[in-house]
Amino acid sequence: MGLFNKKKNYIRINPNRDNMPTTKPTVPDDMWAKCPNCKRTLYKKEMGAEKVCPHCGYSFRISAWERLALTIDEKSFVDWDNELEQKNPINFPDYLAKIDKMREKTGLDEAVVTGLATIAEQPIAIGVMDANFIMGSMGTVVGEKITRLFEKATEQQLPVVLFAASGGARMQEGIFSLMQMAKISAAVKRHSNAGLLYITVLTDPTTGGVTASFAMEGDIILAEPQTLVGFAGRRVIEQTIRQQLPEDFQKAEFLLQHGFIDQIIPRLELKGRLAQLLDLHQQKGWC
Ligand SMILES: [Zn+2]
Repeated sequence: MGLFNKKKNYIRINPNRDNMPTTKPTVPDDMWAKCPNCKRTLYKKEMGAEKVCPHCGYSFRISAWERLALTIDEKSFVDWDNELEQKNPINFPDYLAKIDKMREKTGLDEAVVTGLATIAEQPIAIGVMDANFIMGSMGTVVGEKITRLFEKATEQQLPVVLFAASGGARMQEGIFSLMQMAKISAAVKRHSNAGLLYITVLTDPTTGGVTASFAMEGDIILAEPQTLVGFAGRRVIEQTIRQQLPEDFQKAEFLLQHGFIDQIIPRLELKGRLAQLLDLHQQKGWC
């Protein structure tokens, strides 16, 4: 029973403990990722450049530049309107400083990249939103860049391919961000009146004012698997209508079932499907 009578100080702490070199192996933080869909831990290398979960097919959020690299022909991209002046229309505290910080962190000028490119040698005007830049929110610069994308596409008789990813309108610009919805929609309509094709690809997450305007105005609306697409958040709707919503509510699969989108395309097949759609709709030989 002497075992229980040991004096408290029987563990001798090495006084130099804190100065000793640590021999514990360390694992770099960026080697592993957890799939938000199937919750499995993944070795990042097994996801490949496409960043798709090998177990359930979930497509991880990727940057605009990664998206362009996966989608368009190599070295075909010409960047448009990347030097628009950012203003602070409602004098939101520290807004411009936040923009500067985001620019430094992401290497983007704003939450959307727009320009000219080719997919399988077919010229297109392309826009790619990036959720890493203030949640891909739409302020006046994002709105202006997308409007100009459609105007240039109309002038040059080009189809538009737009990858949507957004938390919605940018609250730091108040009503001015909401006005972008109407401005872009008018440019989309002029592009459509010119008989030109507009394809949107909804990627995770596409929400708020972006869903309520140009993201859902495509002639053809595609989405990646398990993409969140909605206007208001799930909790807000549940509290308003006092009903529980189905489990897969606001997922691309639910929207497809209810006729809101045309097709769900896995990321690995997206480039091929876009090339096929552009080829089917190309203007050559019409009239
Ligand atoms: Zn998964």
